[in-house]
Amino acid sequence: MNHPAAPGVSLNAPAYVKNARLLAWVREIAALTQAKDVYWCDGSQEEYDRLCQQLVDAGTFKKLDPVKRPGCYLAVTDPSDVARVEDRTFICSQKKEDAGPTNNWMAPAEMRALLQSGEQALFKGCMAGRTLYVIPFSMGPLGSPIAHIGVELSDSAYVAVNMKLMTRMGKAVIDLLGTDGDFVPCVHTVGAPLAEGAKDSTVWPCNPTTKYIVHYPETQEIWSYGSGYGGNALLGKKCFALRIASTMGRTQGWLAEHMLILGVTNPEGKKYHVAAAFPSACGKTNFAMLIPPAALGGWTVTTIGDDIAWIKPGKDGRLYAINPEAGYFGVAPGTNFKTNPNCMESLKRDVIFTNVALTDDGDVWWEGMDGEPPTHAIDWQGKDWTPQIAKETGAKAAHPNSRFTVAATNNPALDPAWDDAKGVAIDAFIFGGRRSTTVPLVTQARTWTEGVYMAATMGSETTAAAFGAQGVVRRDPFAMLPFCGYNMSDYFQHWLDIEHKLEGEGAHLPKIFCVNWFRKGADGKFVWPGYGDNARVLKWMIGRIEGQALGEGHFFGVSPRYEDLDWTGLDFSKAQFDSIIDADPVAWKDELALHQELFDKLAYHLPTELSATKQKLEAA
Ligand code: GDP
Ligand code: PGA
Ligand code: MN
Repeated sequence: MNHPAAPGVSLNAPAYVKNARLLAWVREIAALTQAKDVYWCDGSQEEYDRLCQQLVDAGTFKKLDPVKRPGCYLAVTDPSDVARVEDRTFICSQKKEDAGPTNNWMAPAEMRALLQSGEQALFKGCMAGRTLYVIPFSMGPLGSPIAHIGVELSDSAYVAVNMKLMTRMGKAVIDLLGTDGDFVPCVHTVGAPLAEGAKDSTVWPCNPTTKYIVHYPETQEIWSYGSGYGGNALLGKKCFALRIASTMGRTQGWLAEHMLILGVTNPEGKKYHVAAAFPSACGKTNFAMLIPPAALGGWTVTTIGDDIAWIKPGKDGRLYAINPEAGYFGVAPGTNFKTNPNCMESLKRDVIFTNVALTDDGDVWWEGMDGEPPTHAIDWQGKDWTPQIAKETGAKAAHPNSRFTVAATNNPALDPAWDDAKGVAIDAFIFGGRRSTTVPLVTQARTWTEGVYMAATMGSETTAAAFGAQGVVRRDPFAMLPFCGYNMSDYFQHWLDIEHKLEGEGAHLPKIFCVNWFRKGADGKFVWPGYGDNARVLKWMIGRIEGQALGEGHFFGVSPRYEDLDWTGLDFSKAQFDSIIDADPVAWKDELALHQELFDKLAYHLPTELSATKQKLEAA
């Protein structure tokens, strides 16, 4: 061991922990970080309640009104710690080109010196005065052939309770690990060590100036420093289930994608499964929970996952997807009973809210919730908020990236197969961005390669889910720009190769569609009603899969004409429709120039099929 054990630190491992590698690693990290003590999470309800009470006592959690929001808590973070930090996120592969030009890179040895081994290494003593929580979790149903196990060591009780809601967490995972089972080691610290005997001076300890979200793809490790925010700190999610898992999938022949998974059943009772990739805060959770308008005549949608899909070719030649998570970490603002009733039902009890506003009657509020705004609330920064103050200063009661954490089992639309170890067979992939102009409501790709091209060149306006300027169009290939753990060009090739990987009796490729719910009119408002009405587009897609729905070919695919969508129960004119379905040649000339900019950046290993596809589209 490199480091002497912290004086007095006992491993405290329960007798059921038999995995030698796990025990040695926890001992090593406890010594490195000088944690005050070690606590092994068993994942029980009793433990969850106890840790939540501890967070209440520390001031991190406020318990919400037990009648209005039973079992619910509110946390407000440090203002510096409200979103993912993409510029502090690193892929530390041995070779720079394996991380690729879209990722931040540092040589592993250099990063290790900075974090672990150097004189001033950040993790040395970083947990002083704090408890180290051992959080064993399974991404995917326990024991599923598509699932993988991780163990997060964190000095944050907030992380421990969120991981309980977001993953299958606790003793059962340790049992599954047995004596020599494999796991992905994840180390997380808020980066705020306490001097001997000192207490926190803030309810949200973090490091406001220094943050590192680090991935070593070759050794499959994650090290996160300085932040307590979801995407930076709940390491099972974007760090493991996307960045590390995408590299596993590359070598093992499967896909780790930033996709929701839903089941959709038509009025005849036939069920399909769809996986859809939209960038952060661009509608995954809402699409996964949508309620089709009754006027469509008996369509239902059920949720398998709302953020991440792990997808493997099955023996029958179909692609099978699981949701590696067990809960939702969703965007609060804009959620109401009209836009997303299933979500509002899910949020009635046993929720952890982060950075929303607290009302005077002990409930929560955010911009875009139903009804009148409260006359007074405490905003996410602890200040008084009134509609008058909002009018004068533009102050938001809830942070635009405020979130809820809730177990999937709270969702009334949860699909019966959500926990099925073998996953569900995917019929269609959808890719979509947030584009106020240019990109049509929906387009079907004519071929697999053209679909991969569409996904690879997708653009989207940036949102509050990550630090940085908002509303700026950037290329976000496959909605994976911040989440791909290896070179994006190699990732494109991996997707192209899928076309030839499916073998077996029922072998068939899912159809690929590209959507945009976010076109705006001259008045600056969204033209498309979105949310539940997105089911009209879904219905057209199923019609296309069945070979029934018609459409019109244009230079990059097939889109519906006005008469090809079901408008029953919706007042939406042909003129409105035309304004969001058109692909303006002038705008597309600029768009294709941006595709080229991306391709120039990704020239290393860029599949020639993609540049050839571009030439074909330009010529059309
Ligand atoms: P996710 O981060 O991809 O899961 O995105 P969410 O589903 O949480 O949605 C992010 C934001 O986009 C929320 O404020 C939603 O209200 C809004 N949103 C989601 N779907 C739609 C839609 O179909 N139309 C419009 N206009 N907004 C949407
Ligand atoms: P999401 O991202 O907006 O895709 O849900 C979650 C996160 O930023 O951690
Ligand atoms: Mn979401």
